[in-house]
Amino acid sequence: MTTTSLPVAETWYKTEQLSSRLWLITEPHVHPIFSANMHLVLGRDADLLIDSGMGVAPLRPVVDGLRPDAARPLICLSTHTHVDHIGAVHEFDERLVHPVEAAEHENPEPYFLSTDSISRAFRDLFLKAGYPALWPVLINALPHEGYDIEGYRLRGAVPTGLVEEGDRIDLGDWQAEVLHLPGHSPGQVGLWHAESGTLFGADAIYDGPLIYEGAGMDVVAYAESLRRVQALPVEVVHGGHDPSFGKGWLDEIVARYLQLWKNETAPA
Ligand SMILES: [Zn+2]
Ligand SMILES: [Zn+2]
Repeated sequence: MTTTSLPVAETWYKTEQLSSRLWLITEPHVHPIFSANMHLVLGRDADLLIDSGMGVAPLRPVVDGLRPDAARPLICLSTHTHVDHIGAVHEFDERLVHPVEAAEHENPEPYFLSTDSISRAFRDLFLKAGYPALWPVLINALPHEGYDIEGYRLRGAVPTGLVEEGDRIDLGDWQAEVLHLPGHSPGQVGLWHAESGTLFGADAIYDGPLIYEGAGMDVVAYAESLRRVQALPVEVVHGGHDPSFGKGWLDEIVARYLQLWKNETAPA
């Protein structure tokens, strides 16, 4: 496929205000497998961006456009280092990740937009999980006229700080606790805002096919992470993919996967 055969998107990023201080940013022209949610939390002293998408188009101007004061500090938290969560992280000055994935954050596995570059085993994993088949390239539109699909590279960036279980992200008038939720990836983190019962579940929990059989994934750890989030007094979950949901649906998702994995996760 040549770049000229794809239409040019009107805007690359879609932005949606979820509450007075929370924005959802998505990439609707990225294939559903690689189209992740980015959340922007506005605070009094600083703002927080949770994940940074594929890095197909500049993200920083979009994020700054949503912030009341773009001169205020901005923290970018990478929930883990899969391509769809760290693509634009190099555009941000303050970059946090769990120590287990710090090296990958700096030097991520190379990624290209051509689907041919993705291993057959990896593609099959997503199909088996329930995702639609991949397109020839991972995008169905160009961010701008003349965009060079072949020139895309996943860059990564050196983390400027590390976050572990129990750490707090403090925006002055908004504090959330870091939860280490391994399983989908070894250094997967979520964020728990206890005051509002809000869980940023990242790729530990979202309302779509969960991915648990690839490199670095661990079903036993994943089951434990799901039990942990289920025990929280959750009002709303904003996941790493797909629309947000409440406690009732969280319980259904967890029950479904624990049932699916019961042979692998049964005590010896
Ligand atoms: Zn992931
Ligand atoms: Zn993801």
